[in-house]
Amino acid sequence: MIYLDNAATTALSESARNAMEPYFSTHYGNPSSIYRFGQEARKAVEESRQSIAALLRVSPREIYFTGGGTESDNWAISSVALESALKKEKSAHLITSAIEHPAVLRTCAFFESLGVKVSRIPVDQKGFLDLEALERALQEESSLREREERSFPSKSGEEVKKGASHCLVSVMAANNEIGTIENLKEIGRLAKEYGAIFHTDAVQAFGQIPLDIEEMRIDLLSASSHKIHGPKGVGLLYIRKGLKLPSFLHGGAQERGLRAGTENVPGIVGFAAAAKEAFSSMEERGRKKASLRNLFFKRLMEEIPGAKISGVNPAEAEGIGERPESPFLSSLHHRLPGNVHICLPGVEGESVLLLLDQKGICASSGSACASGSLEPSHVLLAIGKSHEEAYFGLRLSLEETLTEEELEYTVEAIREAVEKLRG
Ligand code: PLP
Repeated sequence: MIYLDNAATTALSESARNAMEPYFSTHYGNPSSIYRFGQEARKAVEESRQSIAALLRVSPREIYFTGGGTESDNWAISSVALESALKKEKSAHLITSAIEHPAVLRTCAFFESLGVKVSRIPVDQKGFLDLEALERALQEESSLREREERSFPSKSGEEVKKGASHCLVSVMAANNEIGTIENLKEIGRLAKEYGAIFHTDAVQAFGQIPLDIEEMRIDLLSASSHKIHGPKGVGLLYIRKGLKLPSFLHGGAQERGLRAGTENVPGIVGFAAAAKEAFSSMEERGRKKASLRNLFFKRLMEEIPGAKISGVNPAEAEGIGERPESPFLSSLHHRLPGNVHICLPGVEGESVLLLLDQKGICASSGSACASGSLEPSHVLLAIGKSHEEAYFGLRLSLEETLTEEELEYTVEAIREAVEKLRG
């Protein structure tokens, strides 16, 4: 079987499995208990927190474990929306992109249905956020606030910031369908300039590309364990020190009282082990994957008439919006190293998937939520594809272990499937 769907979910890494094992048996204590058996589990949770914090170069007190990326996104967004409601200030303003994962888009839509203002910033044809549109949304928010402050001056006479803590900018670090890596440094700079809180859904980026929380001025960051060969159902939310947010889950005092509930000890330990491995081999794996990705695109373009690359074409990316962050990041050409996405005009992605499955190839037509739902991909629509074209997507997620023979076998299988379906 050739696994090309969210490749990291194929297998738990050996180091994660080994690290987790004792916490299912000999160290099965509850970290909230004061006896030694429980304290072993507490120590494991805190060591995992320290280890992940060190990888992100933040304080362990800024890392909160969650049940995965979806929960972290929900927490980040709802906390800002609820904080304004609790302070009985002006309602929150959620500014997000049109290509976010449903965990962000649907959470924003839910708060919009409750009356919260939501702005969806467009992206260009490659999937890059329109930075001017973002600045306009932030400017509008800031002048609205200034007008309000003039009508209702604050009692303390404090100077009003350009923006407001009720304004959240939530933009993903890298897109899960077309792999575009956003310019977080510039987005963070704009968010800060206007005093907004900056959240990034880094589920696809964590452990795959460098993320500099300080330089990118990130206040909140979501990550998930299963994208880096860690266990499923565990993730984290980074919350910048000093940001006062209400509790997300109410109950016990776990996670500094913000996210109640007995910790998933084996999951957290496995997440930390997988993260350590992912970060230590990030560049080496990334370079291998990017070179396979480039070869895949080349071969697909050669073999499949009419196939179009969605997002950034690495072969033509030289010089576009150069960001001198790191030589490794530049070498990826603004696209996740393991992401291949093409549109196959006249052929529905879902039909190709079924034929590929018969040949032992597991792929995807796009986001997990869109596939199977017969909804066109919102990401493809946002990058300017027609409603019809938005059904023609095929996404392949590569692991560095993919061989060139497997790559050629897959290209041939796609070519045959397309030929068959085009009749
Ligand atoms: N955000 C992005 C960008 C994702 O790709 C995913 C999962 O694919 C999620 C959020 C949801 O993460 P989880 O499956 O851990 O809930």
